[in-house]
Amino acid sequence: MGWVFPRRIVSLIIGSLPSIYLLAPLPAKSASALAAWALETDGILQLRTSVDTKLKAYFQSPDFDKGLRVWIDFPGELIRPRKIIGNGPVKEIRLGKPSKGFTRLVIEFNQGINFDESKLILVGTSPDRWKLDFVGLSTIGMRRIGEGDLTAYSSRRWINKGNNLSSSVKLHSESLPTIPRGRYRVVIDPGHGGPDPGAVGIGGVRETDVVLDVSLMVARLLESKGVKVNLTRTSEVDLDLPPRVAIANRVGADAFISIHANASRNPRKDVNGIETFYFSGSKGLSLSSNIQRQVLDVSPGSPDRGVRRGRFFVIRRTNMPATLVEIGFLTGRLDAPRLSTYQHRRKIAFAIAKGILKYFQGAR
Ligand SMILES: [Zn+2]
Repeated sequence: MGWVFPRRIVSLIIGSLPSIYLLAPLPAKSASALAAWALETDGILQLRTSVDTKLKAYFQSPDFDKGLRVWIDFPGELIRPRKIIGNGPVKEIRLGKPSKGFTRLVIEFNQGINFDESKLILVGTSPDRWKLDFVGLSTIGMRRIGEGDLTAYSSRRWINKGNNLSSSVKLHSESLPTIPRGRYRVVIDPGHGGPDPGAVGIGGVRETDVVLDVSLMVARLLESKGVKVNLTRTSEVDLDLPPRVAIANRVGADAFISIHANASRNPRKDVNGIETFYFSGSKGLSLSSNIQRQVLDVSPGSPDRGVRRGRFFVIRRTNMPATLVEIGFLTGRLDAPRLSTYQHRRKIAFAIAKGILKYFQGAR
């Protein structure tokens, strides 16, 4: 049997993602853009990369002595090439340097193993996250193989005091409630974006930045607990309200969570607090109550402004249980300095993820 030429896997980027995808690869001397990866037991390869990464992925049909292979090339050079012995359908996973300045992740399947090659699509799910689903792969005997922390945070977007800039910060999701993996889909909607900063508070802290940061963490936490997540935006883009609703209705989400931060009129520094809105239905109320309780728990001293009915477009027009949470007042003496720190935003993200998971536990 002759040599079979590798074929390119289609890369698809979902949603309104920023132009950073279009940048050239990193300079040759940079460290590998591959930050973490895992081949999960459901036959999906998950990747976390640097934010400004352009990937190339290929597959090669089996030849006389090798099974099907899939590989992905990342800019930046790997320090230590290595081989990891596979299990189930996977023979071996290799991390190598195909050429100077690049990293290659190769998955070699056992001979006789097949899946639907036509459905191989490398999907960018956020500016630093990728997914490749091996549709039709028999996952019998398969255990998770991976390296690095997929839930860590690789943003370079957020610049403010008290933030840990280019480093990855670990999000420990083990303590969150457990629900059946793969059963639920959630849409997370970071409020505002792009030319619309939302509320601007003490010290110039902007709602759009705060809620995007929190939303990205909520998404990672939920994904690590087996929840399918769509974000209405993953960067500073202008996004009108109808498309946010359309995304949620189209993907058939089980819950829609819009994340906002408040501003008081005038503004008044003595106004602080947490409030959560739903439009109708006991499920919307339950989702809102669970989130409100958890966010209050991590916001000591911040008043409970309650779970209330609201007529906001995004919770009125979505056709699944929907909520809009206001995580504090950017104009408030108590809330604003806290929301300006990464540590507090991380706590808020945990609280929101916990509220959503508890809602699903109760809704079964
Ligand atoms: Zn808002």
